[in-house]
Amino acid sequence: MHHVLAFTHDRWTFPLPPTNRFPQEKYRLVRERVERVPGIKVREAAPITWADALLVHEAEWIRRIRHGLLTRREEAALGLTWSPELAERTLHATGSTVAAAQAALEDGVAAALGGGTHHAHRAVGRGYCLVNDVAVAIRLMRSSQLIGKCLILDLDVHQGDGNADCFATDPDVVVVSLHGAQNYPFVRVSGDIDVDVPDRTGDDGYLALLDDTLARLDAHGPFAFAFLLAGADPWEGDRLGRLSLTLPGLEERDRRAIGWIRDRNIPLVVTLAGGYGEPIETTADIQARSVALAAERG
Ligand SMILES: [Zn+2]
Repeated sequence: MHHVLAFTHDRWTFPLPPTNRFPQEKYRLVRERVERVPGIKVREAAPITWADALLVHEAEWIRRIRHGLLTRREEAALGLTWSPELAERTLHATGSTVAAAQAALEDGVAAALGGGTHHAHRAVGRGYCLVNDVAVAIRLMRSSQLIGKCLILDLDVHQGDGNADCFATDPDVVVVSLHGAQNYPFVRVSGDIDVDVPDRTGDDGYLALLDDTLARLDAHGPFAFAFLLAGADPWEGDRLGRLSLTLPGLEERDRRAIGWIRDRNIPLVVTLAGGYGEPIETTADIQARSVALAAERG
């Protein structure tokens, strides 16, 4: 039987102060759920190297996160405290996305049970994002087998400023973000298509905006590859979301986005991106469901 591969890095944890609410346990919870989905195999990937990260990021930023040279202000912008474990985890998390991209080229669909670190710019990281995993994966594919245009469809509730920054001068990567109008990041970098969603928008309004966005995509293609950032933070129970999507609404979002991509036979990597629900178990359910829906189209 053919299996879709999903790559995890949840064994690589890092210390968090008790006051920090980054949901580190989410990655294990999603992995445990995905392991129970028929047709999916969960694997661990090799970490990337720091040299791989330099394909995207400026040398000074990589030097600072490699050696723990961040200022207090930079740590505050990241929302994380530097540790050797955090640096190591970043290499493994990015490695999962790179491995998923390789698997998707062969199998059509693959997943990274993490990633979607879309606030990492070329020169600086913020918002829980140190290294831009999708950008590293695209640059590595460009140096080997991938030719043609790449789509980044970012449905995390926060605008994908880092993706837009990394590909600002690259016409072969189309960066699309559908996000909360009033939400972080408050200083933005515009991508190719940016759609602002008003606070408290529910399923119908959101899905109408998604349909409009998908209808515009063919004019930017054809695409040889796609990444979906399936953030769970548009959910009504999310602490940071400000939108009001229900669980069936999020599932329909994924069906439409994945359907658009796979109807065109475009190889697809699903990454998790954000998700800060209360309880976090529900967020893990949403994210595992996104991966399962993609696997159905593998
Ligand atoms: Zn987010």
